[in-house]
Amino acid sequence: MSAETSTTDRPTYVLARAEVRAVERVSPNFVRVTFGGAELDEFATPGNVFDARIKLIFPPASGILPDLDRDTDDWWGSYLAVPEAERGSMRTYSVRELRVDPASGTEVDVDFVLHLAPGLSGPASRWADAAAVGQELFVIGPRRGAVGHGGAEYEPGTASSVVLAGDETAAPAIARILEDAPRDLRGVAFIEVPSADDVLTIDAPAGVEVQWLPRSDEQLHGLRLIPAVLAHLGDADATDDVEVADIETEDLLWETPDYSGLGEEIARADAPTERYFWIAGESGVVTTLRRHLVKDLGIDRGQVAFMGYWRRGVAMRG
Ligand SMILES: Cc1cc2nc3c(=O)[nH]c(=O)nc-3n(C[C@H](O)[C@H](O)[C@H](O)COP(=O)(O)OP(=O)(O)OC[C@H]3O[C@@H](n4cnc5c(N)ncnc54)[C@H](O)[C@@H]3O)c2cc1C
Repeated sequence: MSAETSTTDRPTYVLARAEVRAVERVSPNFVRVTFGGAELDEFATPGNVFDARIKLIFPPASGILPDLDRDTDDWWGSYLAVPEAERGSMRTYSVRELRVDPASGTEVDVDFVLHLAPGLSGPASRWADAAAVGQELFVIGPRRGAVGHGGAEYEPGTASSVVLAGDETAAPAIARILEDAPRDLRGVAFIEVPSADDVLTIDAPAGVEVQWLPRSDEQLHGLRLIPAVLAHLGDADATDDVEVADIETEDLLWETPDYSGLGEEIARADAPTERYFWIAGESGVVTTLRRHLVKDLGIDRGQVAFMGYWRRGVAMRG
């Protein structure tokens, strides 16, 4: 999230100390946490959230959240100014649901993936597993009505059809995109989840087919998603054993029509495109799909947003 223009001189982002209002284990591997509180009053714009990324700050071991400056867009600087031991942990999430109600104010639902196996867990997942009503953390996200994309990457332009693809970490963003999208949107969404019991309800436009792809216990991330996307695009190799790219960098892949984390030339398609691709999830899986789509299938990079949401074996830093 970078600083963007605001219609007022108020910060473009809301940094809110929010309380847990509800916790619901919606499936074996997802817990839905509802945040509320007065500081969320100007958080995000209903109907215009899409895949906006939000930051959550989890308390440090002491359980005491740092006191952060709310009146600045430099939330990152404000966070880093706190001594490391008192800062807690910052992670990136999506808004599953945003409700604005005269009685209860603004409420934000976040769907957390529970990855709890020893050595494969982190502060966010552990916090979500133990979340209880009344606990507090910081939520950072776009200010309601602020001009700019507010951390959202989904930009189909004039494309009338979309291909959305992601693993369980991208499921909340895909769901929000489909529920905020125009009702005449057409296309397909592929969502890989840990098990058949993790299939959740999405109110998608009638013209978008949502394909849930449950893994079996021994299957690695991507082994259902990659072949499904490639088969849909007519790749003849789609049914062969897929190999997930072994990438060396700890950085998450982030290649969109407007931004290149790899420093490549920005590739926004000149002509309006009929089809738009949005792909997010484990960074090696997204890198694998990128290679197939761009190199093998010749899909214009300007039509695709490729986003690593997490990286196998790497703890995020904010
Ligand atoms: C824009 C954006 C939106 C996101 N939205 C969501 C969302 O709505 N819901 C959601 O659950 N996640 C979401 N994520 C992913 C989330 O930020 C990461 O999974 C994050 O690493 C979780 O932090 P942690 O503290 O639990 O683990 P970390 O401390 O970051 O990592 C610890 C270990 O856990 C592993 N790990 C991290 N995530 C997973 C996973 N999902 N499955 C298995 N192992 C994992 C890491 O590889 C590492 O070995 C999003 C990420 C981005 C960039």
